[in-house]
Amino acid sequence: MPDSTPDSTPDSRSPGSTGAGSDRSRNRSDALRAWFLGPRGENAELLERLLTEALRDHVFWRRNHHPEDGFTIRETDKRRPGYDNAVATLTQELMGLLAELKRGVPFFSGRYKGHMAFEQTIASQVGYFAAMLYNPNNVAIEASPVTTRLELEVAAQLARMVGYERGASWGHLTSGGTVANFEALWVARNVIYFPLAARGAADELALDLEVERADGSRAPLRSLELRELVNVHPEAAMDLWEALWTGAPRAEVHTALQEHSLQHLGYQEYVARLDRAFGDPLPPSVVLVAATAHYSWEKIVRALGIGSNQLVFIPVDDRYRLDPDALWETIQELTARNVPILACISVCGTTEESAVDRLDRVLEVRERARRELGVTFHLHSDACYGGYAASVIRGADGGLRSAEEIRDSIGLDPDPDIEAWPTPGWVKSMEALSGADSITIDPHKLGYIPYPAGAILFRDKRARELVAVDPPYLLPTQGLGSSEDLFLGRFIFEGSKPGAAAASVWLSHKVLPLDERGYGHLVERTVAGARQLYRALRDTSMDPFRLVLLPEPDINIVCFLLTHPAFRTIEEVNRLNEGIYARMSLSEPGAQPDYIITRTRFQTPMYDGAVEPVLERLGVGSVEEWERSGPEGLVILRATVMDPFLADEDGPDHTSGFVASVLEEARRTLAGSGR
Ligand SMILES: *Cc1c(COP(=O)(O)O)cnc(C)c1O
Repeated sequence: MPDSTPDSTPDSRSPGSTGAGSDRSRNRSDALRAWFLGPRGENAELLERLLTEALRDHVFWRRNHHPEDGFTIRETDKRRPGYDNAVATLTQELMGLLAELKRGVPFFSGRYKGHMAFEQTIASQVGYFAAMLYNPNNVAIEASPVTTRLELEVAAQLARMVGYERGASWGHLTSGGTVANFEALWVARNVIYFPLAARGAADELALDLEVERADGSRAPLRSLELRELVNVHPEAAMDLWEALWTGAPRAEVHTALQEHSLQHLGYQEYVARLDRAFGDPLPPSVVLVAATAHYSWEKIVRALGIGSNQLVFIPVDDRYRLDPDALWETIQELTARNVPILACISVCGTTEESAVDRLDRVLEVRERARRELGVTFHLHSDACYGGYAASVIRGADGGLRSAEEIRDSIGLDPDPDIEAWPTPGWVKSMEALSGADSITIDPHKLGYIPYPAGAILFRDKRARELVAVDPPYLLPTQGLGSSEDLFLGRFIFEGSKPGAAAASVWLSHKVLPLDERGYGHLVERTVAGARQLYRALRDTSMDPFRLVLLPEPDINIVCFLLTHPAFRTIEEVNRLNEGIYARMSLSEPGAQPDYIITRTRFQTPMYDGAVEPVLERLGVGSVEEWERSGPEGLVILRATVMDPFLADEDGPDHTSGFVASVLEEARRTLAGSGR
């Protein structure tokens, strides 16, 4: 199946559109209006037509499948009381469900600025529905002859977006970012520990293999010390893996490897054996994460038996990006204590602020550690939230766009107090994704695709072999696609999984290509909306309150807090903002706020490097008071702009509406507190 992007996208069709910038942006904003059902259901007829098409087409398929079988349910059956009753029950209960569902969250509305959710593209909804009727299971090709291929194609599209090499890389969909991140660390752990297992197996089989050390020099595997073995670069570890299998009969290698592998023995036995073999049990290896990392990492290190004690938080700077200098210092300090590093997790689009780590600089630190300390590790980018923003730097021809080109196409008014978006550094961070060993991206976040849809990408396809499990009943059959690639269940953590999710992402990528024409445009519009909101919050008088904005976001989450001249303590500030949040959220049953936001807390030690300038501008409290507040921290209000229509000139003005609502709820909170 070709995975080229369609040439039916608006601007490639209209002659002479090249160079005609305004035509092009006109076409794109027209297309945007066809991509979603719309806050008033404006495209309901379109969606209905496509859903009906999908249903009818599926029914024709059934009718033409062995028509000689005759009918199971006859027209006369449908005229019987029992049948009527069953239909009545179904209809009635559905009505009940439909009524219940209206108490759900209005993600589709420009008034919703809560979590990372908006409505889904029509393409993804129709793709999901159409495939759901076939109910494919992407665990193995025999249960999903079509959608497993679509899933691998989707992964290849995402890989191309992040600049991974085609053929060398690999990826697949998951139920979400948590599972995708889990798989990344599961694989990373096995890759980093692999040279140790290989050493044991090579000793046993009397094999002489060479391996590349962290500093790039080559040496006999059996001459490496323990510390060197856990610092073989991921790619070199995979070269070693290939070499090992060619050195002896497969069954022997398999048995010898098992005897020495962590995943087979488990930590307790493994450490005991290390101690016997090397006279050193090795200190527990650590996982470095940006202090802003998603809480899923805590779950993952617990589940993998690494232990949350081994999660080392790297401070962030005042833009909430992992501080590369702090990373370097941590690596030096750990190395001095001989602590192995499994992985470093950098974030592309933090959950709280949409901050994009300078991944290019993180990669430089890893290179330096390799050169100067002989230390290396797996580098993962958690781009669950921000991954789709990488489509902004891709031109329609697949080439890279410069910061300037992107700025021109968005056409934001220059503002002397706000950094123009994107900065060259931002573009470099996105380009650097191609250097990460693995990346997780959630289509169900900035991809505007229904749950469940996460994704994991590995730069080196071979890494998946280190977690492969072969169930006898799913082994490849000759003829059926025959490639082991199509048996996803072998290499992934999950088992049965929805092929409908793959069809959903696939169709959406076809309609919205992963470049400036499709998702790039969508993300640019949300950035334009977030910037508009940012400026409105800055420029509107909040009298008697004062609004403190956090720095302008790297993508589209605007964070701020309010204070009052009478406030003296962080506790008072927190009470006000907590009150505003309570009034502008669905946290209380029956609440019907005009606008919906969320809040977060800046807590110590995660925000140690970032809180000071905020407290200074707040003019209340001190870093010491904040540190003493512990988990209370500093309450920050958070508006996630997923709505690509916010910055439109016509249409409802949800920018002014939002700002007015914040002020109103602040007044009510203060009045309610009796001040
Ligand atoms: C949302 C998110 C996750 C977890 O993703 P789920 O799909 O909710 O499991 C992980 N990392 C980051 C940065 C996220 O924003």
